[in-house]
Amino acid sequence: MRLCRFMDKGRVHQGVYRPASPGQDQGGVLLDEAGLPHDPEGVVWLLPFTPGKILGLALNYKDHAEELGLNRPEEPALFWKPNSALLPHRGTVVYPKGVEFMHYEVELAVVVGRPMRKVRAEEAMDYVLGYTIANDLVVRDWVKNTFRPPIRAKGHDTFLPLGPFLVTQDEVQDPHALWMRAYVNGELRQEGHTSGMIFQIPEILEFISSFMTLEPFDVILTGTPKGISRVRPGDGMRLEIQGLGALENPIEEEA
Ligand code: MG
Repeated sequence: MRLCRFMDKGRVHQGVYRPASPGQDQGGVLLDEAGLPHDPEGVVWLLPFTPGKILGLALNYKDHAEELGLNRPEEPALFWKPNSALLPHRGTVVYPKGVEFMHYEVELAVVVGRPMRKVRAEEAMDYVLGYTIANDLVVRDWVKNTFRPPIRAKGHDTFLPLGPFLVTQDEVQDPHALWMRAYVNGELRQEGHTSGMIFQIPEILEFISSFMTLEPFDVILTGTPKGISRVRPGDGMRLEIQGLGALENPIEEEA
């Protein structure tokens, strides 16, 4: 199921999006909790769920590590993404004043469904609730030292668009077999495939849960492939992952 939340005529709804056909992203219907249809273009999209803690992986695609001129990590390279950075589908990303190089990152986000502590890779997928699309926005100017957590560079308000749906695991046959794309103003800028992950989801969950309890609705961003490029105020980003829909967000300069 593609679960979502939205506001229409001042009321908040828990919704379901029914694609026109399996795997199709366009032309489906948006239904509220009573089964009544709403116009997907006319509603205000909200986060599809309220995330718990949010962790990201740096350099989890070999081609992206190469584009940055960095070595592939020996173990998952984790960082925090603050919940205050969350932004729903169609929300406006703030472009901080005076910044030179800000870029998007299309990422498969894993949503935890059950408490996890010291779970082995072989069983880890049983703990996954589903998936969504994340945009792990970064100000590259502020990444001074790759051994320091990039809290400012990745933690700015609005730097974590997430959604539009929480797609339950039963609808995603293989999360390591999905194409992913990022468009800026309609131009294809980033293209990759989740098969390119260095550490796959079961290993990531085993690693994190070996020292930290993961809880329902915790989110893990699994990294981005090659293809980062500069975005500017006035640009519109559209991130797509196969079977998960499209996450769209405009960028405006900080007031
Ligand atoms: Mg990233």
